[in-house]
Amino acid sequence: MATLVKAISGWGRYPLQTCELERPERYADLLSDADSLIARGQGRSYGDAALNENRRVLLTERVNRLLEFDIEKGVLRAEAGATLAEILEVIVPKGWFLPVTPGTKFVSLGGCVAADVHGKNHHNDGSFGDHVIAIELILADGSRVACSASENAELFWATVGGMGLTGIIGEVKLKLIPIQSSHMMVQHHAAANLEQLFQLLQNPAMDDRYTVAWIDSLATGKNLGRGIAMCGHHAAVDELPAGFGNALATKPERSRTMPFDLPGWALNTLSIGAFNALFYRREGNKQQPFLTGYDPYFYPLDAIGHWNRLYGKRGFVQYQCVIPDGVAFDGIRALLQELSGSRRPSFLAVLKRFGAQGRGLLSFPMAGYTLALDLPIRDEGLFALLNKLDEIVLRHGGRVYLAKDARLSADSFRAMYPRYGEWLKIKNAVDPQNRFSSSLARRLQIGEGTL
Ligand SMILES: Cc1cc2nc3c(=O)[nH]c(=O)nc-3n(C[C@H](O)[C@H](O)[C@H](O)COP(=O)(O)OP(=O)(O)OC[C@H]3O[C@@H](n4cnc5c(N)ncnc54)[C@H](O)[C@@H]3O)c2cc1C
Repeated sequence: MATLVKAISGWGRYPLQTCELERPERYADLLSDADSLIARGQGRSYGDAALNENRRVLLTERVNRLLEFDIEKGVLRAEAGATLAEILEVIVPKGWFLPVTPGTKFVSLGGCVAADVHGKNHHNDGSFGDHVIAIELILADGSRVACSASENAELFWATVGGMGLTGIIGEVKLKLIPIQSSHMMVQHHAAANLEQLFQLLQNPAMDDRYTVAWIDSLATGKNLGRGIAMCGHHAAVDELPAGFGNALATKPERSRTMPFDLPGWALNTLSIGAFNALFYRREGNKQQPFLTGYDPYFYPLDAIGHWNRLYGKRGFVQYQCVIPDGVAFDGIRALLQELSGSRRPSFLAVLKRFGAQGRGLLSFPMAGYTLALDLPIRDEGLFALLNKLDEIVLRHGGRVYLAKDARLSADSFRAMYPRYGEWLKIKNAVDPQNRFSSSLARRLQIGEGTL
């Protein structure tokens, strides 16, 4: 099959690497003859998970047919290149929704399984893999195997969260959740500091199916960790105002596109500080429940195409980690102190409570709190800061999310993912030549040799 040699990146635009791109048009052509390859969905992972420098990258975007939709039972079967956006268009008008969704709908089903993505409902509903009924996996020798929690279960849980390194996910069968309307009922709660924010996130009286908190990453001293907890659920029909019309109707969202790269200096302590103060006041005042569409609630950033250009040409790193329950408050406070002391503004800082650890051997979530920070790359100093954040995370028994990562060390990876040894045994059994590899895998020495 023809290949195109091109420099590509993940969503953070760092690193930029030359890869050989191959784009099969049909399911039957999904496997490549290359010695080293990695599947790529929509390239929405931030770092180098879907890159394979000077080697083959298999673009799955054309293999995206929706194959079966059981409207009675809410079960969908689709090729793994299908995006959540394509799926939502079909399922929402029929009264169904995704069981778990990340903060963008422009991701593929394969990418959601491979990263075992989480949503704002992790503390209630677990991660994506928990709702996958079965997948078809294409192995290094070309054979196709059906995997699920009950059939080839070991391989299934090595693939859920396995970052594409066990094979190519060809098909996914997913259990959906029922909804009565396409709208969300949302309520905001402001917290003046981190302590209050944790209290809010732990308070069952305030909690909702979906809960996430925005943090003002520049606040210091007694305001450190001030933020807004945003809680919501799919609105029931009886929560809609009289005369609402078709509860399941959706209207196309208007989207704008960032037409150019913003200069590196545009996002600075001053501009982000001003934005944060405004956001805290405006959103914190929404203390009464309000109705909004599912798009602005789940995917606010999707309204601006190419918003990653905001960070300038050198790109940015999203640092997402989780700190386990018990030490989460201390760990998150230490991370925020290190960050605010560095005077490196994070445009986005999000805190979320996770529920129990899932069954994926390399899955990211564990019971605790996850913090995500978007940090523009201005100079090498950023990487020194991130190494310090890793030390804090390790000291508190936490881990960094591979789908966002571009710079973790192999040693830190081993310390953060204790089930790696179990995973490697399965990897070696199904891919003894280590054909499925990526830039992330080589950087972190995942899949190489024995333990
Ligand atoms: C704005 C934004 C918000 C986000 N919010 C969240 C969030 O809330 N929660 C969360 O968990 N993540 C979040 N993410 C990360 C994103 O959901 C994951 O990185 C997801 O894996 C991206 O899917 P993709 O199709 O773009 O995959 P890619 O980036 O193309 O690939 C990601 C990984 O999946 C593998 N992969 C992709 N397709 C296949 C396949 N068919 N077979 C085997 N392996 C495959 C790749 O090899 C790679 O390792 C967010 C990303 C963005 C840009």
